[in-house]
Amino acid sequence: MPGPAELDAVRGFVERLPDASSDPMETLERLDELGSPGTVASTGGRYFGFVTGSSFPVATAASWLGSTWDQNAALGVMSPVASVLDAVVGAWLGDLLGLGGAQHTFVSGTSVANAVGLSAGRDRLLADSGWNSVEDGLFGAPELRVVVSDAAHASVTKALGFVGLGRRRATQVASDRQGRLDPSQLPIAGEPTLVVLQAGNVNSGSFDPFDEVADHFAGTPHWIHVDGAFGLWAAANPATANLTAGMERAHSWATDMHKWLNVPYDSAAAFVRDGEDLARTFMLGASYLGDSTRLEPMHRGPQMSQRARAIETWAVLRTLGREGVAALVEGSCRHARAIASALEGAGLTICNEVVLNQVLVADTDDAATEALIRNVASQGTVWAGGSTWRGRAVMRVSVSSYATTDEDAQAFVDAVVRARSDH
Ligand SMILES: *Cc1c(COP(=O)(O)O)cnc(C)c1O
Repeated sequence: MPGPAELDAVRGFVERLPDASSDPMETLERLDELGSPGTVASTGGRYFGFVTGSSFPVATAASWLGSTWDQNAALGVMSPVASVLDAVVGAWLGDLLGLGGAQHTFVSGTSVANAVGLSAGRDRLLADSGWNSVEDGLFGAPELRVVVSDAAHASVTKALGFVGLGRRRATQVASDRQGRLDPSQLPIAGEPTLVVLQAGNVNSGSFDPFDEVADHFAGTPHWIHVDGAFGLWAAANPATANLTAGMERAHSWATDMHKWLNVPYDSAAAFVRDGEDLARTFMLGASYLGDSTRLEPMHRGPQMSQRARAIETWAVLRTLGREGVAALVEGSCRHARAIASALEGAGLTICNEVVLNQVLVADTDDAATEALIRNVASQGTVWAGGSTWRGRAVMRVSVSSYATTDEDAQAFVDAVVRARSDH
């Protein structure tokens, strides 16, 4: 974490737009001098904040090469390499994540990937009700019920607002102590319903009961979207794949590569089971069609011009292979379990079942937990942030970096124990 002096340096950027041109080298030096000290060391193995992840060196290097190519990946004719990598990586991801056959689109993050899935589901369900929302919009459309868990990620709420379904309008279903949607609380099936489920609660790492929800709505008009920003990756590790059982019965899925796959930011994907549903919402007219034998990214998602986002993911998947991805996921889970059991042994409370890479830690009361978070941070060796879990202040420990070793996990435990004994 940058200290006061570094934060002061960053404020050096606040200046008038220069009138005159200057030396590009001087500009780069200034970026490094003022900017580098103002960064957070989230690329190392000792950052456990949010669900952040790092970047594999091969991904960073691929990103640099991709930047120098400066390809516009909108259409195959604009960048053959981007179009081919998009198709290859989309298929690899579908295979790894158990979504074989689904159609994909690369977007900036899971917030947008959630919006892609919700938009495709909205337009499909309304089309089945005889309403063309793509052409005619939502004013005057038939009712569409939206069901979310009360433990859904904030980005889902946000996306519901900007795809016209309303932040407040959705039916909220209660979740259990682990943050899993409680299927006994679902509204009666029958009317057209868009359901949002979660693979990997951002605090506890828990998974919604996909099979039970799919069974509940079976035979009625519905669309299930899964927010799996990091949790979808459980499917790529045989030891955690059971958590995702039934997930393949959904209609759309969202995941980040910039979190657990450890590629640089601005890298996520949305998947839709039926390509027709992606095309209904995102395909533009014939004048823009390009060459139909090639994958055309701009007809599969919200953007036209876009960077070739598949590049870094290709580099990591090509390097790690299926086994390496499984080991990445399992390694994080193993460190999370080790941290949880050591902290429990030290007298702290672990507030969640550690099923994945997330650990929620509480001290005797909220004030003690908040002090603990501050005292760990002030040592400057490791970092984890705070969150609220079922009304209680917690320290949220997320193991999402490939760089975290056994020593790093132990360093975290040591920092927590020291933080408690010092105060
Ligand atoms: C991080 C996260 C999101 C949002 O993803 P962005 O890539 O930050 O847009 C959505 N859902 C869950 C569960 C997340 O962890």
